[in-house]
Amino acid sequence: MSAPPRVPFGDLARTVARLRPEIDAAVADVLDNGWFVLGAQVEAFEGAFAAHSGAAHAVGVGNGTDAIALALRAVGVGPGDEVVTSPLSAAFTALAISQIGARPVFADVDADTLTLDPASVEAAITPRTRAVVPVHLYGRPANMDPILAVARARGLAVVEDAAQAHGASYRGRRIGTLADAAAFSFYPSKNLGAFGDGGAVTTDDPDVAARVRRLRNGGQTTRYNHVERGVNSRLDELQAAILSVRLRHLDADNARRRAVAARYDAALAGVPEVVGPAPAGDSLPVFHLYVVRSPDRDGLAGRLAAAGIGTAVHYPTPIHLQPAYGGAARAGELPVAEAAAESVLSVPIYPELDEAEVAAVAGALEAQAEPARGR
Ligand SMILES: *Cc1c(COP(=O)(O)O)cnc(C)c1O
Repeated sequence: MSAPPRVPFGDLARTVARLRPEIDAAVADVLDNGWFVLGAQVEAFEGAFAAHSGAAHAVGVGNGTDAIALALRAVGVGPGDEVVTSPLSAAFTALAISQIGARPVFADVDADTLTLDPASVEAAITPRTRAVVPVHLYGRPANMDPILAVARARGLAVVEDAAQAHGASYRGRRIGTLADAAAFSFYPSKNLGAFGDGGAVTTDDPDVAARVRRLRNGGQTTRYNHVERGVNSRLDELQAAILSVRLRHLDADNARRRAVAARYDAALAGVPEVVGPAPAGDSLPVFHLYVVRSPDRDGLAGRLAAAGIGTAVHYPTPIHLQPAYGGAARAGELPVAEAAAESVLSVPIYPELDEAEVAAVAGALEAQAEPARGR
């Protein structure tokens, strides 16, 4: 058995340890109150999260997948509709579209940013298209202005998949306020993570917010009055209390991620063999992941492992080539996303990395320059 990596790819135990006293107090509050699903903690968190994103409303739901699905239903997407999205994402983006009986249609991504290519979005639109779901992949905002322009010109709704981008901004506007609605995940490893499942929809539209609020709780308006077929996708009080604690640290945590990213960028400056993330221009990314690209991805992963650095791949299979979506597109149809899936490698980036660990990752990246590799 090989030794665990010196720098683990992720380590949520450190997050718990760092925030333990605040978390313990928040959990004790919930236990003392004796109310566990959709209550004062959820309301308080919804208010704080809406304020943080600059959106008028935030509605807590059971997970990020449901946040996408319910946001889409709330903006009018239903069975048989087509929704254009990215094939380079967690498969849950597309599964959320399928969950409501709609059909995901995959457009290609931009070769530099790996987020949806607006021209490819336009080409994917058919008379059945009802919405576009851009993904703020790895914490980098998608190129929203041209995507919104294409969507508005065709009368399509836009729902942001912001599961990886809590606190990011695009041209001075916070993610979560850019489109008709935005969907967030609070899966534990996200920038803002619960200690269990959770999600939220943000929107400026009071009707969309009210509809998600109703849908998440069985389609009830008042108790036992089900006006439509909603789902059970409620946020619980323990997770909301924990999220309120973590939200207070989000800006500092994101700043730390950006500082670590800057160290990795500098390390890669003299390493043409390994390409770092493209500059973010006038966006402010939050580095949910720090993703490099190499034509020899598996070799690179092996050399980093030998140096004690944990890595992961996001994502090894584009969604249109997943067995679940066999037939959505043929291999070769979305060449940029397919090439990315073969070359991307994520290296450790989280707020709790210490200086020695950041130096170890930066050093291992720097050592990938051809002469230093000694072959
Ligand atoms: C995590 C994630 C989801 C799904 O969120 P869950 O809370 O796990 O349901 C959807 N899209 C993206 C881009 C994600 O990273």
